[in-house]
Amino acid sequence: MRDKIQAALKLSKADYTEIRIEEKESARISYQGRDLENANAVIDKGGVVRCLSRKHGWGVATFNNLDDLKNKVEQAYQCALVAQSEEPIELGPIEVIEEHIQAVMKHDFRDVSMAAKKALVENYNNILLGSSDKIIDTNSVYVDSFSHVYFANSEGTYIEEERPSVVVATTAIARDGDNVQQSHESCGGPFGFEFAQDKEEMARTAARRAVELLGAKSVVGGQYPVVADQMLAGVFIHEAFGHLSESDFVYENPKAKEMMVLGRRFGRDILNVYDDGTIPGQRGTHRFDDEGTPTRHNDLIKDGILVGRLHSRETAAKMDEKVTGNARAVSYRFPPIVRMTNTAIENGTTSFQDMIKDIKLGIYACDAYGGETMLENFSFSSGYAYMIRDGRIAEMVKDVILSGNLFTTLQNIDAIGNDFKWLAVGGGCGKGKQAPLPVGMGAPHIRIQNVVIGGQ
Ligand SMILES: [Zn+2]
Repeated sequence: MRDKIQAALKLSKADYTEIRIEEKESARISYQGRDLENANAVIDKGGVVRCLSRKHGWGVATFNNLDDLKNKVEQAYQCALVAQSEEPIELGPIEVIEEHIQAVMKHDFRDVSMAAKKALVENYNNILLGSSDKIIDTNSVYVDSFSHVYFANSEGTYIEEERPSVVVATTAIARDGDNVQQSHESCGGPFGFEFAQDKEEMARTAARRAVELLGAKSVVGGQYPVVADQMLAGVFIHEAFGHLSESDFVYENPKAKEMMVLGRRFGRDILNVYDDGTIPGQRGTHRFDDEGTPTRHNDLIKDGILVGRLHSRETAAKMDEKVTGNARAVSYRFPPIVRMTNTAIENGTTSFQDMIKDIKLGIYACDAYGGETMLENFSFSSGYAYMIRDGRIAEMVKDVILSGNLFTTLQNIDAIGNDFKWLAVGGGCGKGKQAPLPVGMGAPHIRIQNVVIGGQ
């Protein structure tokens, strides 16, 4: 493979050329209610050539047939020549690298039979179904994938990387009359089959919570102090702030450019936010991004001040900043774009008890069911929540929707917990048409004053 790729690169007429080839085998088994929804194994092979003509722009050719790479390079080059970039494109400098990164799995899932994988997810599904007669539907999913990625560019970099991934997700839907509630739990990471095992408690939690939500009252809308659990805090910082740190977005959006000025105060001194693609075992972790740039720790907010953003080689050069290792592609069907890796709010010093003890009436909001962000405005639904009354966690409430302005909300974070956690959840991030990209999120509990809560 290496000889083939390098021979094709040598013949390229472009100013810069890269070839990424991916061989991926994956298995997916899912149950919907009592029915096996699907059980399939897929082998997917393909590649992408990206050529840069500094004067014109990028040209991209994707393909499944790996023969005749030279011809694909020529096609990408021809595409580059008809591109119409408004300004010449430069690439931030990186070192030439040669690496072969092997996966470490305790129990390689490629050696596990489909029958054993099916038995695993069937067991979780049976736990959901058997937890209560109020559980009327379920969704239980097991997915593994093993990719062998080859990357080489015309500067001389050559990287081979094995990328394993395993995800288990369970959703329980409970009903009592017209009242229908659901709860979802998932986990995932760059591991072997062992990671998918022994997740019975996860299934039990999803089922128990769906049933508990049947008994929860809708929250009364209003302004409250909110304590967000690690999951909600992690999703919030990824969705509401992290995407604004992606420099392609900043560069292309005059409004975002105005907002994301380095040196601007975003929060109190206690707030620190970073993105780090080097954390062992997290879903967004790689030694190199999909342009061959080493990943690293990138501070985004330091002591409340915006200090950094995420770059590809192109955006780094455009904005005259350092490359950060954040050019990522979801598969060989796409060129890399600026993406987060593992994004986190740094650990603080306040204990959970101290965080809630002075709250007379507030909300403890946990988990997140997606949400919407529009530049600086966001709204998120929490998966489940509790009232805080007189410094104590009180009854469960549902339909908790948090909304607000990102800047006001970040300023209103007045306590950061000392209980930081990486959240090894399944799912992934979507941007452009590239979803789901595995990313990591982490946070401690955080307390936010004056959050607008819409109930039903
Ligand atoms: Zn995202």
